[in-house]
Amino acid sequence: MKLAVFSFGGKRSVGVVHDDMIFDVSDGSHRFGCLEDLLFAGHDGHLRARLAVDKGNGIALSDVTLHAPISRPSKFLAIAANYQSHIDEVLATNPGYVPPVFQRWFAKLPSCINDPFAPILMPPETSALDYEAELALVIGSRCRRVKPEDAPQVIAGYTICNDVSARDWQKRSPTIMLGKSFDSHGPLGPWLVTPDEIPDPHDLLITCTVNGELRQSGRTGEMLNNCFEQIAYLSTVCTLEPGDVIATGTPAGTGAALKPPKLLQAGDVVRCEIERIGAIAAHIVREEIDQVERQPSWPQERNMGGSK
Ligand code: MG
Repeated sequence: MKLAVFSFGGKRSVGVVHDDMIFDVSDGSHRFGCLEDLLFAGHDGHLRARLAVDKGNGIALSDVTLHAPISRPSKFLAIAANYQSHIDEVLATNPGYVPPVFQRWFAKLPSCINDPFAPILMPPETSALDYEAELALVIGSRCRRVKPEDAPQVIAGYTICNDVSARDWQKRSPTIMLGKSFDSHGPLGPWLVTPDEIPDPHDLLITCTVNGELRQSGRTGEMLNNCFEQIAYLSTVCTLEPGDVIATGTPAGTGAALKPPKLLQAGDVVRCEIERIGAIAAHIVREEIDQVERQPSWPQERNMGGSK
């Protein structure tokens, strides 16, 4: 089953994608505005999703706007250096790089999540924008200290992440969080594919093209720590919640490691594709600072209360 978040006729809802149609899961008694709501509904949510196609009234996929399947998870975590081919290319450009001994994790702030076909912003503060095509998994059940062999039971499904990276900001801090978290630098989608359609998440082809040129091509079986080991490691530390997103690493071919480097430029089109899931694609667009929305500030709101 492919679960998507979409907008149609000014309404945002969760739908099931079947062929080139999407079927709204919401009905008169229940409206699901985000996939996290459906996941928290547990068995009832799954049942409603399964019945959606039978109810009919599908909408052509070409008539809707697809959104990121998960938009505000409690955690958006990503593993670094999880493909030997990527470690090798980083070492080739930076001989002082120390590969991880243990799983090396960083946070992508949930505010960086972007729709699957929305533009990726190139902020004026970076001159080293790069792509990383990755398989992402979404947690379906609240869990802690999950054994690797039990991890498949807590996965709601799989999607595609472009772990967009501002390499110059990434290098400024050992946590690398800010270099991975500029607004729009976490595209997800185009939908969540449930595990019944992905019999082996470690046997999938991942590719990334920029303006049609193949840059990355790897298989998920090359992961040094597989999806299940990642869940086991993370859930040792913290409770994982339905909707939490885990990006599982990227293979070789990142722009910064090519010789010469091929970093993203305004006007480029970057496309990430994973077998059995689909593809996401985005234009790189220069971020205009004067377009930033400014919300009323806290002191202004406080002054409206009449304090003297
Ligand atoms: Mg990455």
